Amino acid sequence: MTEVPARAVIDASGTWNTPAPLGSNGLPVPGETEARAAGTITGALPDVTRGHFAGHRTLVIGSGHSAANMVLDLARLARTNPGTEVVWAIRAATPARAYGGGNADELPARGQLGTRLRTAVDSGAVQLLTSFHTRRIETTDTGVAVHATDGRAVEVDQVIPATGFRPDLGILSELRLDLDPALDAPKALGPLIDPDFHSCGTVPPHGARLLAHPEKDFYLAGMKSYGRAPTFLMATGYEQVRSIAAALAGDTAAADALELELPETGVCSTSLPADTADAAVSCCASSEPVPVTIGFATGPHHGQQGTSHTMTSTNHLVVRPMEHGDWSAVEAI
Ligand SMILES: Cc1cc2nc3c(=O)[nH]c(=O)nc-3n(C[C@H](O)[C@H](O)[C@H](O)COP(=O)(O)OP(=O)(O)OC[C@H]3O[C@@H](n4cnc5c(N)ncnc54)[C@H](O)[C@@H]3O)c2cc1C
Repeated sequence: MTEVPARAVIDASGTWNTPAPLGSNGLPVPGETEARAAGTITGALPDVTRGHFAGHRTLVIGSGHSAANMVLDLARLARTNPGTEVVWAIRAATPARAYGGGNADELPARGQLGTRLRTAVDSGAVQLLTSFHTRRIETTDTGVAVHATDGRAVEVDQVIPATGFRPDLGILSELRLDLDPALDAPKALGPLIDPDFHSCGTVPPHGARLLAHPEKDFYLAGMKSYGRAPTFLMATGYEQVRSIAAALAGDTAAADALELELPETGVCSTSLPADTADAAVSCCASSEPVPVTIGFATGPHHGQQGTSHTMTSTNHLVVRPMEHGDWSAVEAI
C-alpha cells in the first residue's frame, strides 16, 4: 500500500462498483452471489446487442430508468431475433409509477420512456410480473430459476439486476464522517435529497458547507455524495466541486455563492393519467393529506430496502423522482 500525504481529500469514486443486491431486505438472496460469479446475473446495464441475449429469455428486475432502458432494449432486440423473450419483475403492485407522467413530464424524453414502456407491456412484447420480491436464485442446467417470496418462480437464461447502487464506505472507515443514517449521504445534505420527502425532485444548490464532515478538509462529492439516493445529476457534481475547491483555497465567499439551476427530477403535475400510481389523486382535489407519487420510482424508501413510511402533505406533492437513466437514449419501440 502506498500512502500519499495530502492537504485535503475529495472522494468522488462514485457508486458504480457497488450495485444493490436483489433481496427486498437489502441483502443478497441465497444463490445470488454464485449466479453473479457465473454471469447468469449480469452487470447492471449490459449491452444487449452483444453476448447471450438474442434468442434467449431474460429477466429484468427493478423499476427505475435503468430497468426501463433494459426492458426496451431487449424488446427491440426481440423484434429481429426470434426466441428472444423479455420478463420484467417489479416489487410494486402496479407499474404506474414506472410508466411516469407521459406528456406531463418536465423532461419530454423521460416521459416518452415511460410511455414506450407501457406500450411494450401492453403489446405483449414484455411479460410483466408485479409484486415480485426475490427470495432466492437457483442455478439450473440452462440458466437460473428466480423464486419470489410468494412462491412464484421464473426460469430464465439470465437476469439483469437494475436495482440501484449504494456507496462503498469501507475505504473511509478511519475517517470521522457525519452521514444521514438512512441515505449514507452527508447529514446536512440528506434531507435535501431524500427521494421520499423532497418535493418535486428539486434539489437546492449545495457545496462545501453542506458537504463538510467532522474530518477536516474531507469531502464526498459526485454520485457518492448522494449515498443511496438515486437522483444525482452531473450538474450537481460540477457545482459541488467548484464550491469545494473554493473552500479549500480559502475563498469562503465563492464557496458559499452557489449557482445552479436543475430541471425538476419529478413530475410536478396534478394531471395524472387515470390509472396512475397506487393511491394517486390530485393533491388539490382532496382535503385529506394524500401521498402523490408520479414518475419513476427512486427505489426503496430513503434509498433503503424493506418497508418504511410514506409522508403525506396537504399542501404539496410528495414525488418520488427518477432513478438513474440516460433519458437521451430513448428510442421508439
Ligand atoms: C445508468 C445511469 C445513467 C445516468 N444518466 C445520467 C444522465 O443522463 N445525466 C446525469 O447528469 N447523470 C446521470 N447519471 C448519474 C451519473 O452516474 C452521474 O451523474 C455521474 O456519472 C457521476 O459522476 P461521478 O464522477 O460522481 O461518479 P462516476 O462517474 O461513477 O466516477 C467514479 C470514478 O471513480 C473511480 N473509482 C472508484 N473507486 C475508486 C478507488 N477506490 N480509487 C480510485 N478511483 C476509483 C471509478 O472507476 C470511476 O472512474 C446516470 C447514472 C447511471 C447509473
